[in-house]
Amino acid sequence: MSRFFVKRLDQLAPYTPGEQPQDQQYLKLNTNESPFPPSSKALEVLSREAVCQLNLYSDPDCKALIAAIAKRYSLEPEQVTVGNGSDEVLAFALRAFCDENTPLAYADITYGCYKTWCSLLGVPSIQIPLEEDYSINLKKYVGGQATVMIANPNAPTGLCKTPAEIEVVLQANRDQVVIVDEAYIDFGGESCVPLLKNYENLLVVQTYSKSRNLAGARLGFAMGSQELIADLNRIKFSFNPYNVNRLTCLAGIAAMEDEAYFQRCIQEIIQTRSWTAQQLKALGWTLTDSKANFLFAQSGKIPGGVIYQTLKERGILVRHFNAPRLENRLRITVGSQNQMERLLAAVARLEAEW
Ligand SMILES: *Cc1c(COP(=O)(O)O)cnc(C)c1O
Repeated sequence: MSRFFVKRLDQLAPYTPGEQPQDQQYLKLNTNESPFPPSSKALEVLSREAVCQLNLYSDPDCKALIAAIAKRYSLEPEQVTVGNGSDEVLAFALRAFCDENTPLAYADITYGCYKTWCSLLGVPSIQIPLEEDYSINLKKYVGGQATVMIANPNAPTGLCKTPAEIEVVLQANRDQVVIVDEAYIDFGGESCVPLLKNYENLLVVQTYSKSRNLAGARLGFAMGSQELIADLNRIKFSFNPYNVNRLTCLAGIAAMEDEAYFQRCIQEIIQTRSWTAQQLKALGWTLTDSKANFLFAQSGKIPGGVIYQTLKERGILVRHFNAPRLENRLRITVGSQNQMERLLAAVARLEAEW
């Protein structure tokens, strides 16, 4: 830290992204990317002509992109806004709906960025412990003055609540914004988007990074009432008006319109997830009922840190969190069938060696 860095942030602990090693070719099962390429329709629009227009700014209103998203989710364009990854949209939401008097309530085991953003933005955190089995007890979110953040499915547990269960929180907290982070909802969960017509306090955030095969394009979106979306745009235009670049806008429209490819990819992940879970269970592993594109898993006998380290030495990266209640668990991205066969072979070998 330089001597110029502001005192207010001297405790800031930045989020640690999953390793993105540039040295060696790993089988990467640690950051929940898709194993499949972007939609061919997205690739087609990234033409030489499109690249040649990079001398011009992108559309700050992202009109065409927002129209495509709104159409897909049967919403008005005024109910949608986009950002440089859903990370940016979520951070805008915290800037808009939290401050020193309006804390953010979220689970003690969830996406690490929530805590980091609170600390960056001077927002108090209310961390609500998950139950013994890692499930979220939504009753604990009822009442109170905090803005609520629910990752659904949650990461890294993969556990998912139904819209009917989340509706209880929306109903009880009419004067608080409830943000549902649906980064993984397409892999078998049920989205809260249909609740938008009844709840002006609901903000649903999704991303192209996991289920739409465009993590590197950096594109996420929020859906909510016109008023909430106008609030987010007010933040966006006070921070970074051209937050989504031209190429990402084009790819985002094409990918959103390619429903068939989207469905094929997610169905394949769901099938492979179920196959992988079965195989791990056969090796004596314990797993949650993940509705995401990752498994949250634990060996019957080998410590999580040892598995993580040994797999890494053998060219396979998975995610290990050195934190209470997580140290024996691994978060393993569901890749292609072929990739999971390689993972299983490595795990079986490890179990045999132990
Ligand atoms: C991956 C992820 C995000 C952010 O993804 P972006 O790449 O920024 O769109 C947000 N929330 C959760 C829970 C995630 O796992």
